Amino acid sequence: MTDNMLAPWITTQLETLLAQRGHAWLLAGPTGLGQYSLALEMARTWLCEQPTARGACYRCASCHAIEVRTHADLCVLMPETAMLALNWPLNEAAQSDIDEKKRKASKEIRIDAMRDAVEFSQRTSARGHGKVVLVFPAERMNVVAANALLKTLEEPAGDVRFVLASEAAYQLLPTIRSRCLVHTMAWPTSEAALGWLQKQGADASQAKVMLRAAGGRPQDALQFFQSEADTQAWITLPKAVVRGDQTVFKDWTPSQAVDALQKICHDMLALKTGVLPRFFAATDLIEGGSMASLTSWSRALAAAKRTAEHPFNVGLMLEALVSQAQSALNSR
Ligand SMILES: [Zn+2]
Repeated sequence: MTDNMLAPWITTQLETLLAQRGHAWLLAGPTGLGQYSLALEMARTWLCEQPTARGACYRCASCHAIEVRTHADLCVLMPETAMLALNWPLNEAAQSDIDEKKRKASKEIRIDAMRDAVEFSQRTSARGHGKVVLVFPAERMNVVAANALLKTLEEPAGDVRFVLASEAAYQLLPTIRSRCLVHTMAWPTSEAALGWLQKQGADASQAKVMLRAAGGRPQDALQFFQSEADTQAWITLPKAVVRGDQTVFKDWTPSQAVDALQKICHDMLALKTGVLPRFFAATDLIEGGSMASLTSWSRALAAAKRTAEHPFNVGLMLEALVSQAQSALNSR
């Protein structure tokens, strides 16, 4: 991430936060609003040798060390899957366990990583500009890890600051929340979000579909369309589902398929009650489904959501999801 790639709504929030004091911040909001980017910029600025009120200089040795992921005074605490996705090095032991297939990359923040972080926060700063612990997504700490962090948050060793970024802050221990200053992530205006998506390479009409599909959350929009779908597939999704076409979900995880079906269901219910759809254009939706069939479909999808992370058989689950959708949408 370089300076000019920083989204405008992140820059504004950064300036507001930098103007305030506090050794521990919690950035809270739903996914896709950029809490990780904001947390990293706060860390970068706190450690920068020549920071301004607007942020880090991007030229000093400290900024460079962050860019190449080797800053001795920054401890990044994330699930291993997130570390790998966001290009942060794992510690040697963890990397070799994963390379030798002794275990899979962890989706939780591991307690041994937390112990390293606690030890880190007690060391002296290497560059003399303090130290930062960045935790993301903070809700992925289990209770043991959270309690270890809590002790350090309560009695920070001098020059260490914390920035916790969370996409589900209600899942955090209340004691963690109460030790932090909480910043609620701001939603970008749709003009700002559309402009940003176009800077990332989408054309104007794609950007519109992407942002709508993600319910107005720009980073979710970008991630979704970079990995799984294209805008044309999204537009035609409701009609494909009502035909019983399973191939549309060919490259999707069950969890992504359930999300998409929930969005179709939400919008169909909205149409029935005379509200504007949120995730699709009204013309992309279908006529059909009764209030009762859509409501019970919505309940079934909420239940499916709970098993979608660990389905017994992906193919069978997708098949069942599509046939359930078809019957809900075709009922009168
Ligand atoms: Zn700098």
